[in-house]
Amino acid sequence: MPELPDLLHIRETLRARLVGAHVVRERVREPVVLRFAVRGNLSLLLGRPLRDLLRKSHFLVFRFEGLDLAVNPMLAGRFRVCEPGAKDEGTLAFALGFAPAGTPDGGEPECELRYLDDKNMGKAYLIANEDWKAIPGMQTGGVDILSPEFTRERFLSLLRHRRDQVRVFLLDKKSLDSLGNAYADEVLFAAGIHPKTFCRSLTHDDGLRLHSAIVEVMQEAVREVAGRGEPIDVKVRDFLKVRRKETCPRCGGKIRTAGVKGMDAYFCPHCQPARRPGFVDWKKTGL
Ligand SMILES: [Zn+2]
Repeated sequence: MPELPDLLHIRETLRARLVGAHVVRERVREPVVLRFAVRGNLSLLLGRPLRDLLRKSHFLVFRFEGLDLAVNPMLAGRFRVCEPGAKDEGTLAFALGFAPAGTPDGGEPECELRYLDDKNMGKAYLIANEDWKAIPGMQTGGVDILSPEFTRERFLSLLRHRRDQVRVFLLDKKSLDSLGNAYADEVLFAAGIHPKTFCRSLTHDDGLRLHSAIVEVMQEAVREVAGRGEPIDVKVRDFLKVRRKETCPRCGGKIRTAGVKGMDAYFCPHCQPARRPGFVDWKKTGL
């Protein structure tokens, strides 16, 4: 699943390539990924210039004149820009052919934006500009963790009102926009906090440390993913410290996993000790 740094990299790459061009062709292979909150289908985009590309929560929003195409890639969705005649991939869901302004509808596209999805779980919504309420699951209201509004005070006040486990809070897109599974693990590792810790048992200093960890981990990840310049359908994850790793880079101990509300959390039991009674103390088991 693309996370915030991936989405920003995809947005910047596609923005540089496609903004200003307009749609001259559309193809749909898997209608199941498409949803329309306007009367018509993808051909409504023909002739429209792409004005901008935005990230909104876990959606990438292609802003056309009058219409937004909001894509949530979910688990397996990927974008690719290819030559118009390039061979089709089996996982193609839909494609838009783009050409410079002035090319007539039905003219030859200069390039094709493809949306591929192995699982067809992603969804693409065609809506009137900013008609966000037409999109189920477009949870808004979370503070953008890369914006100046994400202050210590704002974070501590959000944290104070939570009764759940800290990892569940970090993943709540109505509060924070946004962290996914991979970076939730990285942030908790950086702050030295066990993923199952209840928010109410965190101290003021824990809260401050967690806020700094979010800012630092995410800023570094954005820089790293953008700096690699990998194709936009490649997820750059090799620089992560605990997610899907075996050995802790800090203490050399074994990384463990724990189920937190149905999700696998990766953590180091030595660097992120549990605080609640009744937990297995890995240090005493000799494992
Ligand atoms: Zn460790």
